[in-house]
Amino acid sequence: MNIRKVTVYALIASMAASLLSGCKSDTETSVMDAISTSVQTTAATTEITETVPETSAFVTYTAEEYRNAGVNELNSVPILMYHRVYGMTNAETQYTGGNVDKDGYNRTSEAFEADLRRYYEQGYRMMRLTDFVDGYIDVPFGYSPLILTFDDGIRDVVLQGWNDDGTPVFDPTCAIGILEKIKSEYPDYNVTATFFVNSQLFENGEEEDRKVMKWMVDNGYDIGNHTRDHKKLGDCDADEIEKQVGSMFKKLDEIIPGQYVDIVALPFGSPENIGSGKPQYDRIFSGTYDGFTYSTKAALLCAWTRSYSPFVRDYNNMAIRRIRGYDNGGTEWDIEMNFSQLNAGKRYISDGDPNTVVFPSSDNSSGDWLKNTFGHQVITYD
Ligand SMILES: [Zn+2]
Repeated sequence: MNIRKVTVYALIASMAASLLSGCKSDTETSVMDAISTSVQTTAATTEITETVPETSAFVTYTAEEYRNAGVNELNSVPILMYHRVYGMTNAETQYTGGNVDKDGYNRTSEAFEADLRRYYEQGYRMMRLTDFVDGYIDVPFGYSPLILTFDDGIRDVVLQGWNDDGTPVFDPTCAIGILEKIKSEYPDYNVTATFFVNSQLFENGEEEDRKVMKWMVDNGYDIGNHTRDHKKLGDCDADEIEKQVGSMFKKLDEIIPGQYVDIVALPFGSPENIGSGKPQYDRIFSGTYDGFTYSTKAALLCAWTRSYSPFVRDYNNMAIRRIRGYDNGGTEWDIEMNFSQLNAGKRYISDGDPNTVVFPSSDNSSGDWLKNTFGHQVITYD
């Protein structure tokens, strides 16, 4: 492992286009001003304003710049767990704050859209769950990663028909309708989400859903495995787990071969004690069903709070924690409670380079908090 102190500028060519355009915080702007004379950028491509890295080398800043922006890539990441988004206003439900049911698993379209705008305004930018699991966190300098997940499939992708050019027409109040709207409004938000489906897919009929899913993976969304029948895997024997996980992967492989993510969202978050050593739980992670061999690279709980950074000791890719996307007046680990903690010094703040891990040296003073660097360059500052 190569850990070094940052004491000098070591400015190199690659700067992401997102760093140089769009909405910037004051901190970021001042950092950019401070270093702009030293940063080389390559010519933009003709069609999009994207700066192509001239070299694979990483960008570093001074310790003061890291400090001012609060860069810390050992801090926590919000992975939101939504279920179904209903085309309703908040006034149309009997529950508080845009919840559609008593426990807040389902959300109104009004509340969901407001959630997305609020995360953006607080300096979060979306990224793919599969990249997070791979330790590849590509978020602009000074911003924080945000990951959206949806379980169960139903009502989140409400198809209204097809355009003449073959593109789908979605209900503007369903989850993907709102995500597409936000995508057009905030080009630098990097709108993306992972949808975990059961065998009924999105309930538009299998033929329609097959076409929709192909469109989704071609347009920045991911599809993952929520098991065939939504059973509690903690109550299943090995053969049943293999059937539940394996048959769903097999189906995804038939519909979108090579384009689904090898990630399972555990129904009901079961088994919670996935590391207990029960041998049947191994079938969540590898097996063969009906001739189809699968390998799962991560599993998601229905947990209550932010995820550890993938770089730290307590992160466990077999039991990744998520935040339930609901409102409970700022209590019981609702969105407000989680984000107020994140925004009070717990949030991962990026250095803008997915190939480095940057953090204050005091955060790893024990020497064992940083655990997995995924081969990235490690940079600490005081
Ligand atoms: Zn579910």
